[in-house]
Amino acid sequence: MIVRFLKDGVARGGSYSKENGIISGGEIIELDGLFLLPPCQPSKIVCVGLNYTKHAEELKMKLPEEPILFLKPPSAVLHPEGHIIYPSSSSQVDYEGELAVVIGKRCKNVKAAGAEQYIMGYTCFNDVTARDLQRKDGQWTRAKSFDTFAPFGPWIGKIDHSNADIQTRVNGKIVQKSNTSDLIFDVPKLVEFISSIMTLEPGDVIATGTPPGVGQLRKGDAVEVEIGGIGTLRNFVV
Ligand code: MG
Repeated sequence: MIVRFLKDGVARGGSYSKENGIISGGEIIELDGLFLLPPCQPSKIVCVGLNYTKHAEELKMKLPEEPILFLKPPSAVLHPEGHIIYPSSSSQVDYEGELAVVIGKRCKNVKAAGAEQYIMGYTCFNDVTARDLQRKDGQWTRAKSFDTFAPFGPWIGKIDHSNADIQTRVNGKIVQKSNTSDLIFDVPKLVEFISSIMTLEPGDVIATGTPPGVGQLRKGDAVEVEIGGIGTLRNFVV
């Protein structure tokens, strides 16, 4: 797993495994109490709306013919364990647990069959959304773009993207539980579609959409997104 962290005020990269902890520059570093940074620095975060069959059914919406895309700015990025700041202009902030794809190599016009070679790995993502503002505006930029509304991490790992368990918990209670096998547009198809529109850069993040069970966050909540084979992203609402 690829990890970034702060040590003595300096940003460093390393590799994490359960057995060995973090290894960075030949040094073993204790994970406990370490300040983890977002595991990459995206130039853009491309998000997919309505991409789980059961979520579309839950909303009684027709399955989309093409992926529905929107962007989150890099200024919305939040590190693992960081604070999601509840904006004063909203009274409904929702969690959306998602699998995120991290791009490893610059690419444009990639075919689905060749998409894997451009992917660095996968991580957990929370597409935090001010739902009331999304409804009010009719488009999504304000609702999705507040600072701290794009937590992801804790690290980037390789998994089978077509069969990964995904779970969201609020204060320890399971609120979303699904598997990426239910995705309408799978990861290679998304890379093909998005790279037909825009050049993808190393470190860019694709958030692949949320399963059923979306719901509200309140100040004081701890929200976790867990992806099987990766780990758990935890953040706190303030
Ligand atoms: Mg989403």
